[in-house]
Amino acid sequence: MIIDTHTHLYVEEFDTDYKEVIQRAKEVGVGKFLLPAIDSTYTERMFRLQKAYPKEVFLMNGLHPCSVKADWERELAHVIALMQTHPNTFYAIGEIGIDLYWDRTFLEAQREAFSQQIRLAKAYHLPIVIHCREAFDEVFEVLESEKDEQLFGIFHCFSGNQAQAQRAISYGLKLGIGGVVTFKNGKIDTFLSSIALENIVLETDSPYLAPVPFRGKRNESSYLTYIIKKLAELYKVSENEIITKTTQNALEIFKA
Ligand SMILES: [Zn+2]
Repeated sequence: MIIDTHTHLYVEEFDTDYKEVIQRAKEVGVGKFLLPAIDSTYTERMFRLQKAYPKEVFLMNGLHPCSVKADWERELAHVIALMQTHPNTFYAIGEIGIDLYWDRTFLEAQREAFSQQIRLAKAYHLPIVIHCREAFDEVFEVLESEKDEQLFGIFHCFSGNQAQAQRAISYGLKLGIGGVVTFKNGKIDTFLSSIALENIVLETDSPYLAPVPFRGKRNESSYLTYIIKKLAELYKVSENEIITKTTQNALEIFKA
């Protein structure tokens, strides 16, 4: 079984055909879908999808760094309240982190929201799922102050260099690998095989970041087959071995 550890299946892009999208994924062997949260505007949509697919869909809870705006404290309170009103519902705190690509205005708030959510994850013994864009130094700074044996999870859509990969792993994190590994200018394909497979999980980040040959189009979980094929080439192992190892890694983290 293949696990998509990061898909936004509940967003508007999938409104008309999510059933077919899930069916196509199942046909190529994807058995579980981990859904990262964005903010309170999507909470009901996530619950609805989970109720429709209780054996396949697993939810995360969290405030995405791009949704950290002037009202971030109220958004964070919503995340904390959900942990109390919905016990045993969430499999990770995510996606959380820092994004400086669009806007640096709320950097301080992003840092604070990230730290607080890492502590929330620890309090519930849950993994974290990190979003990091143009912010490796800032994310590592927070991780450095929060690191301990309770910290674990995934560095989602990992796009850094070899040294950054090793640093992420040193904090108890695995690398989420998706479409970027198939991009000509993606760079991670140049060193990934030096990172042990024990540290890798599969993800799409759909509807975003579709792999080649669908780059620029809507992504979906069935396209994980292209990621698996690419990883088998890079690691010089069978596609089956990629599937077995990455699924084992994902189950270890999420206990889903
Ligand atoms: Zn995401």
